[in-house]
Amino acid sequence: MQFIPYSCQQIDDSDIEAVCRVLRSEYLTQGPAVPEFEESFARKHAAAHAVAVSNATAGLHIACHALGVGPGSLVWTSPNSFVASANCALYCGADVGFVDIDPQTRNMSVTDLAARLSRAKAEGRLPQVVIPVDFAGLPCDRAELRELANQYGFKLLFDSSHAVGATYRGEPVGSNHADVSVFSFHPVKVMTTAEGGMVTTKDAELASRLRLLRSHGITREASQMSAPPEGAWCYEQQSLGFNYRLTDIQAALGTSQLARVDAMRVRRDALARRYDELLAALPVFRPARQADRESAHHLYVVQLDAERCPAKRRDVFTRLRTAGIGANVHYIPIHLQPYYRQRGFGPGDFPHAERYYEGALTLPLYPALTYEQQDYVVNALKNALGA
Ligand SMILES: *Cc1c(COP(=O)(O)O)cnc(C)c1O
Repeated sequence: MQFIPYSCQQIDDSDIEAVCRVLRSEYLTQGPAVPEFEESFARKHAAAHAVAVSNATAGLHIACHALGVGPGSLVWTSPNSFVASANCALYCGADVGFVDIDPQTRNMSVTDLAARLSRAKAEGRLPQVVIPVDFAGLPCDRAELRELANQYGFKLLFDSSHAVGATYRGEPVGSNHADVSVFSFHPVKVMTTAEGGMVTTKDAELASRLRLLRSHGITREASQMSAPPEGAWCYEQQSLGFNYRLTDIQAALGTSQLARVDAMRVRRDALARRYDELLAALPVFRPARQADRESAHHLYVVQLDAERCPAKRRDVFTRLRTAGIGANVHYIPIHLQPYYRQRGFGPGDFPHAERYYEGALTLPLYPALTYEQQDYVVNALKNALGA
């Protein structure tokens, strides 16, 4: 059997056509394809504004900036995420803290957040921004998070890198409840532009700040300038921004991929349900399903149940890799990375995230995975677990 990765992009002829059309056109960047992609992404996610960026890390960076994060600010996120969810605050000179996860959903625990907020309030050091992560594509507890945000006055920046196309109480993520949401289009995610990301918000002023920050802090709109421009060549730099633009080549791929996002999600959902059934008798915890939300199923992560399962995660991982299966682990808790340990974090700080990590194992899940390949993965896992 061919090597089975944990995730991979799905590129079809219409994607290739779309990219080739841009290559034959006048603009490779800053042409019409980016605003077209932004409009279709905003429509799909019921968001008033969508700002395309070069990757989700850049999106998280300018989102923090636009929300006013700077030296002296405090930002909290989930330790069960990719390091970018925390690094974005440090880029702005802010301090980072973490909130432990709910072991069932593996998302930020609302209970732990509430407890930490009440302590932080007593100590006079509340976070300005909280960044919950829709882990594996399962939407976080948005209503409860919004209530706490209103009560304690922090902004909610969702890292929805895994959650393109996911829904919460019938609405797409990226619209309600969030101040800002960020999505990733890296090839392992649910849709791709190679590198790429999107920032959505319902706030017009935030959106225009994000657009400025994406492109050097420069505007070419006469209506936004401090004085009437002397001529059509004029532009104004109004803040210190970056070059975080997406190209037209990537945006065309994005629009084409977005048209298949629902179909790809349905396929991922069918494969995830099939895993749920095939793994039911094994000594592992399967991903949670919640009736009021639909996961984008970016990842299918099982957690070995230490009480029922004598096998070590490391050995199970190695046996799957030896069988040609690209098992993976999501995530090493961010606070246990050497860089974060240097900043004062350490083992024991976020016990649920740490315990989850000890047994976590990501199995292959992507639209082109066949049932035959999936059966092969399940059998290899059974053997590796000694079940
Ligand atoms: C992939 C990922 C990112 C970073 O996305 P890029 O587009 O690669 O910059 C950030 N947060 C999470 C949770 C991710 O999975």
